[in-house]
Amino acid sequence: MVAIPTETVYGLAARADLAESVLKIFRAKGRPANDPLIVHIADIGELDGVASEVPPGAKALAEAFWPGPLTLVLPKRPCIPPETTSGLETVAVRMPSHPVARAVIRAAGVPLAAPSANPFGRTSPTCVAHLDPGMMAQVDGYVDGGPCEVGVESTIVGFFGGRPVLLRPGGLALEEIESVVGRVGLPEKKNAKIVAPGQMPSHYAPRTPLRLKGDPEAVEGPEAARLLFGGAAAPGECAGWRNLSPAGDPAEAARNLYRMMRELDAVGARVIVADLLPDEGLGRAVNDRLRRAAAH
Ligand code: AMP
Ligand code: MG
Repeated sequence: MVAIPTETVYGLAARADLAESVLKIFRAKGRPANDPLIVHIADIGELDGVASEVPPGAKALAEAFWPGPLTLVLPKRPCIPPETTSGLETVAVRMPSHPVARAVIRAAGVPLAAPSANPFGRTSPTCVAHLDPGMMAQVDGYVDGGPCEVGVESTIVGFFGGRPVLLRPGGLALEEIESVVGRVGLPEKKNAKIVAPGQMPSHYAPRTPLRLKGDPEAVEGPEAARLLFGGAAAPGECAGWRNLSPAGDPAEAARNLYRMMRELDAVGARVIVADLLPDEGLGRAVNDRLRRAAAH
């Protein structure tokens, strides 16, 4: 079990085909058993080895965007144990673009499960300096691949009756996905628990309470830190501030998000008051993470 760089965030990687190795990941992260893992492959040809059925839309997306920050949820083959998928008959699969991630998967010779390398519910690491020491005490090692290029987790798309459904916004923009497969749906509320498990409302949180600008609890002032987006001007009196992207670029904001959340977590503020981005492109993923970080 090793922490490895991927283009999204650092992952805690172990064999996806062995229950005992997958259980080590759950233990090290303190991750609930009902939150399934993503299986990582090194080549598109390995997809048929883990998924029993690949609808045409899924194939088109894999061809267009792999390697990259896109995860596909498909019916699983028996070689993937129930521990990996939390008992579901589907498996989430991704082919990362990071050369180190792919080299490690190739060297292992089997697909690797690799959730974000952080204790469950906390901020994901985007460089090795952010790996949690307590968690790493249970891990065999890590590979330093420098800072992550994308900075937020993959976009997850499921296929239900052949139709694409957005299960989690992430590092690949919905607009790009829709340019290949047409309109992508959202999970129906009544089925959401089954088709999109592990989407915890509270997640990615710093220790300092984070509140979204406009929330009644988002009180600004000398004891509050500010996480801004766009506009180069410094805020008024505050405990510290960062700008996710002074130029207003959502991809830059995604790359900076977790590092800046950590930096503001360290200034000793009473609260971090965060701006939301426009809900388009990678702004959707950044907003999803900010909303979950603010959920309490
Ligand atoms: P991460 O923790 O970033 O590695 O992402 C794992 C997430 O992928 C889980 O929390 C689920 O939301 C999603 N996921 C994994 N497997 C499945 C599956 N079989 N069906 C639906 N969603 C899944
Ligand atoms: Mg995670």
